Parts: sequence; C-alpha cells; structure tokens
Amino acid sequence: MFDNPTHTTLDKMGEFALIDHITKHVKLTHANTVKGIGDDAAVLLKSVDTLQVITTDMLVEGVHFDLMYTPLKHLGYKAVIVNLSDICAMNAVPRQITVSIAVSSKYTLEAIEELYSGILAACNIYKVDLVGGDTTSSKSGLVISITAIGETNINNITYRHTANENDLICVTGDLGAAYMGLQVLEREKQVFLENPDVQPDIEGHDYIVERQLKPEARIDIIAQLLKEQVVPTSMIDISDGLASELLHICKASNLGCNIYESKIPIDSVTFQTALDFNIIPQVCAMNGGEDYELLFTIKQEDFEKIKDKDSITVIGHMTAQGNSANMITNANTVLPIEAQGWKHF
Ligand code: ADP
Ligand code: MG
Repeated sequence: MFDNPTHTTLDKMGEFALIDHITKHVKLTHANTVKGIGDDAAVLLKSVDTLQVITTDMLVEGVHFDLMYTPLKHLGYKAVIVNLSDICAMNAVPRQITVSIAVSSKYTLEAIEELYSGILAACNIYKVDLVGGDTTSSKSGLVISITAIGETNINNITYRHTANENDLICVTGDLGAAYMGLQVLEREKQVFLENPDVQPDIEGHDYIVERQLKPEARIDIIAQLLKEQVVPTSMIDISDGLASELLHICKASNLGCNIYESKIPIDSVTFQTALDFNIIPQVCAMNGGEDYELLFTIKQEDFEKIKDKDSITVIGHMTAQGNSANMITNANTVLPIEAQGWKHF
C-alpha cells in the first residue's frame, strides 16, 4: 500500500509529514463522517442540527513532560486541557472525555490519586464527564492519552480550511508565556541537579510557570463568540506556536497572510524573562509552544463585535492565494513566516 522503497528514519520527516504519509490512503465511508483527519478534531453528524467533535492527544514522559518539575496533579489537569483546547478550536463545547494511562507498577496508589485529582478538577471546572478509558502497565515511563468529545450547532462549526481573503486574524490571550515558563523550570532543574541543597527560585515568574504547568482551554472565548453572534471563518488552537498554526490556516485555506510584529500579544513577565534569557520575545510567541490560546479569522464586518474584548487581539489579515505567510516587523520589513513548532521526533 505504501510506496516507500528507501530506508527513512522518522527524525528526517517531522511530525506533520509523517501524519500526511500514514493517512493519505484513508478513505471515509460513512455519510455521517463530516470531517476526518486534518483539523483539530474530527466532525460527525449527530442530529439534523448538531455536530459531534472528537479529538485525541497523548502526553509521554520525557517527551511532553518531566516529572522532576511537573506535579502529577498539574499533569492530569493539563492532559485534559490540551484536549479541550482542540474541541474549542472547532468552536464547540466539550462534554465528555475518556482517559487512558500506561503506568509503571512501581507507582504508588497515592501518585495515581494525585494524577486523577488533576483530571477530575479539570472535569469539574469545564463541566466534562469522564466516561471511560483504559489502564495498562508501562516499562518506559508514564503515558496519558485522552480523547475528548464535544458538540456544536451545525452553523457554528469552524474549520482550518475556510478562511477568506481579507479576513482579520485574531489571537486570544498572550503568547510565549508557557515556553518561557518551561525555560525557567529547566534552569531550576539544572541548578538542582548541580546542587540539590539549593531551593528552586521561580519568584516573579509565577505567571509563566503556571502557564506551562497549568494551562487553560479558552472555552470562555467560545461562549463570548456565541454571545456576540460571531462565527469565526477559520480557527485552530495554538499548541505548537503562532507561526506553525498560521501556516496550517494558510495552507488549509490556500491563502497567504500578513501579521504585524507590533500586534503580537506578549505579557510583560514573558517579555522580560525572554530578554533575561537572551531570547527575542516575539520568537517565543511565534515558535514557543503550549499556549493553548485560539487563533481565528473573522469577516471584517464582525470587527465591531470583538474590538473591545480584552482577551482578543487582531494581529493581521489574510491575503490572496499565491501570497506567502508574512510578518511585518517593527522595522517595517517583510519577514516570511517559517514553522519551527514543537518537533517531537
Ligand atoms: P493537534 O495539534 O490539533 O492536536 P495534530 O497535529 O496532532 O493536531 O494532528 C493533526 C491531524 O492529524 C488531526 O486531525 C489528527 O487527528 C490527525 N492524526 C494525528 N496523528 C494521527 C495518526 N497516528 N493516525 C491518524 N490520524 C492522526
Ligand atoms: Mg489543535
């Protein structure tokens, strides 16, 4: 089935090329499968006016989290949030999750209780039912895989591929904080490994550390958009950095975009910490990961309805097919956007 005569290691491909390769022979056969692979969640027809959306995300020890500085309670919470964020990215509301874990038999019951206290806290706050899962042992670290199910009215579903030329590009919240939080945690880990008597120093960095360890899904934005009767023309959640997600929208919608460096929302603590680490703050926002904010496009006529919302920033607009994705820098130069994102391979 796969025409692949050469010996190709995965690290040469990257995550997205691998997904494209393994999924290109997939055919959809059921009339109620509205959208399969390729968006933040799959879309199924539930009733005449309701769609169901389904997404899965897996967190692997040593790849996505480091238990040296990740409390199990936070990990459980985050594992739920990353899935709920993908449901929000379809302009849908999460309703149920299943949770599968692979865990070493050396773990204590109390440790699993901690993990589940975080999972259940997220279920409680986001009003989601935990309806199933699977439990198995692991010989190579902790793995958590969560599937989330949500629903939305058929008129509100929002894909990546439906942006139009001249639509305004919006982002929620601020970007780059989770990445800088990770840098602070990694620094403190190194200090600790060199001298276990030194206490970790995250003072002044609470916001960015919290953004790394305990992100939130922007279900509030989905509610606001519904209230204002704004249906975005396209949407994706920002899990791999703004650059990567913009390119997904552009590629899927077959358009270009211009965004403005000066408009990218960056929190002051993120900004200062980036400078302290000799990192350009805008690079954190473009190429950091795990913000779990939303990137969406709206029709120009909807601008009035969102312009006073503190948590929504217009950063640019979509351009015609054939244009590239560009950032207009503060020095007024045009910089092509390239994806760095999180490469897990
Ligand atoms: P996200 O970052 O929003 O979670 P991903 O980049 O993980 O999305 O996945 C992109 C698309 O590819 C999604 O539609 C996802 O369901 C699909 N996908 C990812 N891995 C696989 C796989 N191993 N088999 C089938 N589909 C996959
Ligand atoms: Mg996503």
